[in-house]
Amino acid sequence: MMEFLALEFAGTVRHDGHGGVADDLTTSQQLTEWIRDHAEELAVRGYIADAGALAEVRALRAAVRALLARAVRPGPASPADAHRLLPDDQALDRLNRAATAHPVALHLDWAAGEDPGLQLLGPDPGELTRILAALARATAEFLAGPYRVQLRACTAPRCVRYFVKAHGRQEYCKPSCSNRARVARHYERNRPGATGVTAHWDDGRAATDLPRS
Ligand SMILES: [Zn+2]
Repeated sequence: MMEFLALEFAGTVRHDGHGGVADDLTTSQQLTEWIRDHAEELAVRGYIADAGALAEVRALRAAVRALLARAVRPGPASPADAHRLLPDDQALDRLNRAATAHPVALHLDWAAGEDPGLQLLGPDPGELTRILAALARATAEFLAGPYRVQLRACTAPRCVRYFVKAHGRQEYCKPSCSNRARVARHYERNRPGATGVTAHWDDGRAATDLPRS
């Protein structure tokens, strides 16, 4: 599966394995560790997050998740926060403010005998602003790039992930989600007293066609 920083960031809100939703960025200690795990993409070393940083990163994540939800429309948003998404214009504004707080210029380094590498040149606005800007840029690049149209929210029971479809028929983010969805469909079909579109009354009309009393 391809890795996108924007989706990894959004994916810090995740299924907890027990039918609930877990949040990997709940304490400043967790944020410090997450940033350390992504030190290369974020171009920071030894950053220690505090409560203020946690609040700002979480606010940016809410914007990122709202924009991912917008990108998968008319498909369903991740059920983790589908009921409390930021409005589109607020999410876009928040993302752009984070990105533009650290204006940068690309600089190509290429010494003889070495691989070329990119450097971001610009005034240093401080570590937190740089981190927020890097996350916002990664999200902007993803959304404006070629993979947005393959973005989906996984619809397997309990899953809350956004993922990029690797091929046209892929419906779920992982094989384990596909299996869980198949089991759920099987259970739903074979449940005693199952109702729904497959249930018909004796006269052949679908149950859902009957007038409500
Ligand atoms: Zn899934």
